[in-house]
Amino acid sequence: MRIVLFGPPGVGKGSQASMLVEKRGVTHISTGILLRRAIREETDLGLKAKEYVESGHLVPGALVRELANGALDGAGYDQFVLDGYPRTIEQANWLMSDLAAAGTSLSAVISLVVSDNVIVDRLSKRRINIRTGENYHLDFKPVPAGVPLEDVVQRKDDRPEAILHRLSVYRSETFPVVAFFRDRGLLHEISGEGSFSDVCDRILQVADAGS
Ligand code: AMP
Repeated sequence: MRIVLFGPPGVGKGSQASMLVEKRGVTHISTGILLRRAIREETDLGLKAKEYVESGHLVPGALVRELANGALDGAGYDQFVLDGYPRTIEQANWLMSDLAAAGTSLSAVISLVVSDNVIVDRLSKRRINIRTGENYHLDFKPVPAGVPLEDVVQRKDDRPEAILHRLSVYRSETFPVVAFFRDRGLLHEISGEGSFSDVCDRILQVADAGS
């Protein structure tokens, strides 16, 4: 499978991508995770991206294209799930042409749909383990016993001001990408509400059909 998991911040793309890694052995390529790692390691790219990421703005496209292509290359351009890329029409065009240049294409774009109130709840109650990158939710996936509490933080961009900004960026810049993929016959819209395993089953149905 060569898929894009698409949807607003907080819809559960990262958790569902981890499920695909576990169940199907694909490579998870998240530009958000790659950016946060670069920021933590204070690489040149990380230093350039830091302000944008922490305030909930989109990082300049060329930087994420470089990160995504490096990871796609590492995965041999096959058996991957992209999460958080592409986020603009420009990035979607890049992805299509970068995959074509590598002699391949996407098998499906899975767009997870949830209502706004679910998103705000998921993001404001999300916590992240700064060592492992694992996400928790204060109500539904509490921090397990044994995890040092100093390793568990709220992402700066999960604070209320940044959440509102990210949702408005999503609506203006990212949502149009849905139509881009629909026009190319790649889009599968599925509900991201309900239990984790229900959503997981819906994703597997689409992902397996196209692989
Ligand atoms: P995420 O973990 O996918 O929610 O991404 C966190 C933040 O990283 C976003 O709010 C952006 O600042 C940045 N980011 C991640 N992916 C992209 C992308 N494809 N284009 C621009 N910025 C991105």
